[in-house]
Amino acid sequence: MHLTQSLHKALRERPEATAVVCGPQRATFSQFTERVSRLGAVLRGLGMGPGDRVGMMSLNSMAYVEYLFGTWWGGGAINPVNFRWSAKEVAYSLDDCDTRILLVDKFFAPQIAAIRPLSKSLEVVVYTGEGPAPEGMLSYEDLMAAATPMEDAFPGGDDLAAVMYTGGTTGMPKGVMLSHTNLCINALSAVAAVPRQGEAVGLVAAPFFHVGGCGLSLQMMQRLIPQVVVPMFDEVAILQAIQAEKVTETFLVPTMIKRLIEHPRFKEFDLSSFHLMLYGAAPIDAVLLGQAMDALPGANFCQAYGMTELAPTISVLLPDDHRPGPDQAKRLRSAGRPVPIAEVRIVDNDGRDLPPGQVGEITARGPMVMKGYWNKPAETAKALRDGWMFTGDGGYMDKEGYLYVVDRLKDMIVTGGENVYSAEVENAIAQLPEVSMCAVIGVPDDHWGERVHAVIVPRPGTTLEEARVIAHCRDLIAGYKCPRSVEFRTELPLSPAGKLQKFILREPFWAGRERRVN
Ligand code: ATP
Ligand code: MG
Repeated sequence: MHLTQSLHKALRERPEATAVVCGPQRATFSQFTERVSRLGAVLRGLGMGPGDRVGMMSLNSMAYVEYLFGTWWGGGAINPVNFRWSAKEVAYSLDDCDTRILLVDKFFAPQIAAIRPLSKSLEVVVYTGEGPAPEGMLSYEDLMAAATPMEDAFPGGDDLAAVMYTGGTTGMPKGVMLSHTNLCINALSAVAAVPRQGEAVGLVAAPFFHVGGCGLSLQMMQRLIPQVVVPMFDEVAILQAIQAEKVTETFLVPTMIKRLIEHPRFKEFDLSSFHLMLYGAAPIDAVLLGQAMDALPGANFCQAYGMTELAPTISVLLPDDHRPGPDQAKRLRSAGRPVPIAEVRIVDNDGRDLPPGQVGEITARGPMVMKGYWNKPAETAKALRDGWMFTGDGGYMDKEGYLYVVDRLKDMIVTGGENVYSAEVENAIAQLPEVSMCAVIGVPDDHWGERVHAVIVPRPGTTLEEARVIAHCRDLIAGYKCPRSVEFRTELPLSPAGKLQKFILREPFWAGRERRVN
């Protein structure tokens, strides 16, 4: 099983159908595969051997999809670099997984001068923008024009396909080794889990350097449907693309959905083609989910839960689970049921199974579990035990087999011996109409060990007081879960994938003190 197989299938079944669209650019499967087979040859010519990493530092583009499949066609493995990193962090990632070749677009080419002296492994930089390549870089289009397309290298299922870095939500990102089978089977399994009807057109707006964007693109390829790529998250670009290309589905993280539906021009666009909003990668509060469902009445909603290490999706909350009914409120707090190939268990600290309803660590097994963290044997041994991936997420299953993700174990607050799940408190706070965003963290407390602290971004033009927030929470959740202190800010730290980075909020409170981590 290898990732380029979908292209061979497309050549047989629908060579003239649209594969990728980005702004005015569009390519059929046959045009796309021709370019991919050239790029495979280019990369081989630059010395890429089987499983060798190829870095890519680029906004989302039609060419990005080409970089992915071209690397695989030539038998290499992708290292999609997070372009929001500093030069030092990019060099860290390149050196960490020994990446010699880097493809860089016109937006990030100016950063190469700063990256090059910091990286030991970087040797070849290929400039993918138009026009002549800057000094010291090769021109992608020149190399492509001169190359003779090669036959697919046909890597094996177990061969390395990607070193993808985790979201960096809780600290320094880790390089996750994923095989062709990991990525193929996960994409297929996620597709199989979600019923769809009719012709579909997908849209990729989440960044390709994150498994959310890259994984979505793979799903579209497996289904041989067109994928519309937008360069980066931009509300109007997304709305325009949906209208112009009659997009039927996309995947967004909750913070992106919020920005989209609250955009002043949201109502100007014809979104009648849009039928399916896939969301996930971070907890969504019930208020936002309700608002999103109201804003897009013609769309089904489907939640995905997973992680880079699981390539990524292991459970889905299906459109049917979102529909009104006696269980709706409960279901909407759930991350759904495991996808076909994922076995999910909830275990205690000693790795023993817990009964339905009890919170423990979510663990998963199946052909989508990563090969390990690159160069991190200790972290790999901790995360992978007997074939099970220990996710570091706390959760429980109900009797019907629905999974509930309550918190990252690292974010869970222990106050006076009681566990408080930050997501539950955030959900309560989010019900205040004045709240735009909020984060709940544990801060040191001499008496209770930790105390619950809330950081809130009020909606513009509203005012909110600490006492009102605390009194509101007291009406909804147990006293020990309510914030003891509240602080107001104008924004919260978000990771490049759009997730809340609570470790940054916690840092000043814990300076010089050791925080116990679950
Ligand atoms: P890092 O591991 O570097 O701190 P990260 O965990 O955010 O970053 P990802 O692999 O992108 O990196 O994200 C996986 C995590 O995202 C999961 O472990 C979980 O905590 C959270 N997550 C994913 N999907 C959901 C969901 N549907 N509901 C709640 N949380 C989710
Ligand atoms: Mg993680």
